[in-house]
Amino acid sequence: MALLQFLGGTGTVTGSKYLVDTGKVRFLVDCGMFQGNKNLRLRNWEALPVRPSSLDHIFLTHAHVDHIGMLPVFVRDGFRGSVWSTEVTRELAEINLADAAHLQEEDARFANKKGFSKHKPALPLYTGEDVERAVPLIRSIDYRKPMDLPGGTKVMFHEAGHVLGSAMIEVSVPAADGRTRSILFSGDLGRRDVVVDNDPFVIEKADYILIESTYGDREHPDEDPEPELAEIINATAARGGSLVVPAFALGRTQILLYTLRGMKAKGAIPDLPVYVDSPMAISITEIYCRHIESLDRQARAIFSATGECPMIFPNLHFLRSPAESKELNSQHFPCIIISASGMATGGRVLHHLKCRLPDPRNAVLFIGFQANGTRGQLLKDGAREIKIHGEQVPVRAQVRAMESFSRHADSRELLHWLRGVRVPPRQAFVVHGEPESSAALAGEIRRALKWKVSIPEHLETIELK
Ligand SMILES: [Zn+2]
Repeated sequence: MALLQFLGGTGTVTGSKYLVDTGKVRFLVDCGMFQGNKNLRLRNWEALPVRPSSLDHIFLTHAHVDHIGMLPVFVRDGFRGSVWSTEVTRELAEINLADAAHLQEEDARFANKKGFSKHKPALPLYTGEDVERAVPLIRSIDYRKPMDLPGGTKVMFHEAGHVLGSAMIEVSVPAADGRTRSILFSGDLGRRDVVVDNDPFVIEKADYILIESTYGDREHPDEDPEPELAEIINATAARGGSLVVPAFALGRTQILLYTLRGMKAKGAIPDLPVYVDSPMAISITEIYCRHIESLDRQARAIFSATGECPMIFPNLHFLRSPAESKELNSQHFPCIIISASGMATGGRVLHHLKCRLPDPRNAVLFIGFQANGTRGQLLKDGAREIKIHGEQVPVRAQVRAMESFSRHADSRELLHWLRGVRVPPRQAFVVHGEPESSAALAGEIRRALKWKVSIPEHLETIELK
């Protein structure tokens, strides 16, 4: 009998990791890192809940670190199987994992230098060498191409529309009655009719569905993000200030660049310099530009008409070196700085926040989800000062947040997508959400769809009968 165990992504939006064990084959769907508050982050350091050498495969839905970030640890600790993802995710994962290792090494080095870590010496969770050993194990698989595993298990990837290359994963396992049971792992589910990303695939039937619930209790604003973004940029520039956008290097940065390109072309905002200050975001933008065929129809049409990548425009500057990044601190004319990390938990954006937050002329704009306990969430909730690199920094800049750039389906869109499933599943599992979001979505599924639904606990195991 096949078992499903929840090793992460329960009660939190991070650490996605699900074990499937059919008795003939054993694999993970996603291998994510826990992020956010300290209690969650400490889970990354605990003994792994499954012996890595006991796994045959790891399947990755998409390249965000909360879905792939523990891969180097699993490989270092004995995993010798194959890792499967779409080709775009494979390329993105290489960059994201190298950056994750780099951030951890930097943070450990900085903590040791300043002596603010409780651990002496502070150590990174894994290193660049661990990543170099893990990345060659990743092999690419196409959407809609079934893959056969021992004992009659099948795996198939479908478009998820969340970031470039993202997938939902359908697994079919043999059951005791001689039939099969299908399990759909939604991964992070995108939205319909948005720029850059394709619509998510609609599945008609699955016996078990794991549905994400990042925005399970909220709806995104319906309106076009451009007017509000133009208002923020124009007002900040009129004050003589600069706009800092902490943005996830993968996804949000490219959507923002695409939107800024359109707004500049229309004259909705002045021709301010736009700096992308994140080597990772730059490399990822290059992957987007290399995989135009994976973009949505509108983005492909811009490329066909202009011959240019729809994320590139005049007065856009890519800052690769730390020296160029530091030089930006001494620049006082209005500009837009897009830098990672998106929740301001690390990376170069911390230096920009430290530099720009104390000045009321500046503005900070969050365009992505902010997990509990992160600096991003504290700032969004109106913190008057914030700790960066062990120092208290006063917050006088305007802090704004926009959710319309999100590539997570909201509560209404999640339900709409679930309604596409024609036959009620045996059970739905609500995962990948803060507790209140998961509870809200589970309630809505029960009420509107009348499905059997539960919110699994960390490490809970289910028999797929
Ligand atoms: Zn994601």
